[in-house]
Amino acid sequence: MSSDNNIWVIAEHSEGHLEEVSAEALTYGRKLAEDLDGNVIAVVFGNDNQALVGTLGSYGADKIVFLDSPLLQEYCAEFYVAALAKLFTDKKPEIVLCGATPIGRDLAPRLAARLGTGLISDCISLTLNEEKLLLGNKLTYGGRVSSIIVCPNTKPQIATLKPGVISMSRPDNIKKPEVIIITPQFNQKELRTRVKGFIRADPETISLDEADIIVAGGRGAGSQANFQLLDELAKHLGGVVAGSLGAVDEGWLPRRKLVGQTGTTVTPRLYLACGISGSVYHVLGMRDSEFIIAIDKDPNAPIFKVADMSIVGDVGEVVPAVIECIKKFAQNTDTGNSE
Ligand SMILES: Cc1cc2nc3c(=O)[nH]c(=O)nc-3n(C[C@H](O)[C@H](O)[C@H](O)COP(=O)(O)OP(=O)(O)OC[C@H]3O[C@@H](n4cnc5c(N)ncnc54)[C@H](O)[C@@H]3O)c2cc1C
Repeated sequence: MSSDNNIWVIAEHSEGHLEEVSAEALTYGRKLAEDLDGNVIAVVFGNDNQALVGTLGSYGADKIVFLDSPLLQEYCAEFYVAALAKLFTDKKPEIVLCGATPIGRDLAPRLAARLGTGLISDCISLTLNEEKLLLGNKLTYGGRVSSIIVCPNTKPQIATLKPGVISMSRPDNIKKPEVIIITPQFNQKELRTRVKGFIRADPETISLDEADIIVAGGRGAGSQANFQLLDELAKHLGGVVAGSLGAVDEGWLPRRKLVGQTGTTVTPRLYLACGISGSVYHVLGMRDSEFIIAIDKDPNAPIFKVADMSIVGDVGEVVPAVIECIKKFAQNTDTGNSE
């Protein structure tokens, strides 16, 4: 497929709110488009949504294509792939980016196969080489090897981007994006899927990379009982529990809750590290959190180097004290006492 120089970003949204990883993909798209002298085009499923137009424009989208059809209101791989394959066969993008979200991970390989091109999945950074080919950097072999993957012979070059690996940024010269609405036509006889409804996930099982507040425990948490305290604290704060490999190895935490190079990369507003030493493998996965509080009994623990607030103390004493403070604060708020 010959191509133009445009970068297309599949922008995911939830009820009109742009997913952070899509803003991150737009940030990368903007950088690549400048090097390729192309445009950044966001493609959105669902109908024209003015709030989203403003947000996508503010992250640098030159154009927005809404793919609008009753069949595209909720995610369904069959319909989404069919609509995107037709669009990209017509428009011939140079590069297509999307977030390595549950949807992106399902959609991108199917789309690549349909278009007869390659996929660079779970990238932690994207650059162009001297031939202007996309180089996707991804961790392989459980995070032990960093590999550069290129898709030299086919277009579009498709990549999924790991959430939280680049800070979103808004360009200075924001223009109002052009909006194009396309209604894909489906051959009803060929469709094999029927979407009967959606069941919302339990907030407690929310994926770590979407959590705003994370209470993380390490080996220094000391016991399963203390992990229950972390759970209680997370509930009071409206957050989720996660942790280090130390805690996973002790059997206090399931592996899917691991933060770090071999686990999930997180960027919450608040990351509270409790009894985590701060090995480089762990820090790689949480250092971009907006505010980091660390509790450790060792004043020289490396975690304090990345912390915005350091508490030298025993997790078993500090965490219950914090829970008590929160409870008292909540009581005072309920009774209107400002003390
Ligand atoms: C290839 C590779 C990949 C890896 N990937 C990851 C990864 O993705 N994520 C990850 O987390 N690790 C990863 N690791 C493991 C990593 O190197 C560390 O071994 C691990 O993070 C240590 O976990 P920890 O901090 O909980 O335990 P420890 O290093 O044992 O630290 C425990 C901390 O708790 C403190 N402490 C002890 N008791 C208390 C108490 N009562 N109160 C307060 N503080 C206390 C100690 O002072 C110490 O700082 C990886 C390792 C390798 C080799």
